[in-house]
Amino acid sequence: MTKIALMKTTLEIILPAHNEHGNIKPIYNEIKEALAITEYDYFILFVDDGSKDETLSQIKDLAKEDHKVKYIELSRNFGHQAAVMAGITNADGDAVVIMDADLQDPPEVISEFVKQWQLGFHVVYGKRISRDGESLFKKTSAAIFYRLLHWLTEVDIPLDSGDFRLIDKKVADSLKGMNEKSVFIRGLIAWMGYRQTPVEYHRE
Ligand code: UDP
Ligand code: MG
Repeated sequence: MTKIALMKTTLEIILPAHNEHGNIKPIYNEIKEALAITEYDYFILFVDDGSKDETLSQIKDLAKEDHKVKYIELSRNFGHQAAVMAGITNADGDAVVIMDADLQDPPEVISEFVKQWQLGFHVVYGKRISRDGESLFKKTSAAIFYRLLHWLTEVDIPLDSGDFRLIDKKVADSLKGMNEKSVFIRGLIAWMGYRQTPVEYHRE
């Protein structure tokens, strides 16, 4: 009997982390739980962005226990966008998911992203429908910022969405190819085209 080895589709979850030591274990557990139902193989790629606390050592502990956990250690704090870009540059999944490490982006949404990706979308971005626990000031300033951005730029950057999203390998490869040093990732992605669609979710 001949066995046919099927290449498994791989998801790569990128988590930029700066001083998140209380959140590393919990976000890891939540992702594992959320992805237990998926038929896809997956990797969790932490990017330690020059943390001064136990973030890196906690990531290293997880990587020792679980081969699905990988990490990048940045030499200093470069900022969220640069950390995400470092993750994308080093990811080689068929789809890459970008999410925060501080539990604000719910991992259950990943399977919704994947569904839309299977339907043929190259970019599936999370669209917030509430910002529970954030001050009225933050809500209002975020709303004004995104609307202003929308008005100022020629590219339509989706309103009420951050970097929480899934991008197809094609999009990740295009981003790598652009070799931009100072990036506004969701702006670049919006500008790139491809087939894009939102998935609504409640932000913690
Ligand atoms: N982060 C990072 N480098 C930084 C600041 C933040 O990698 O210099 C990470 C942080 O650990 C979190 C994500 O980026 O996982 C989003 O950061 P934050 O929660 O501060 O942003 P906000 O919730 O205000 O959008
Ligand atoms: Mg946050």
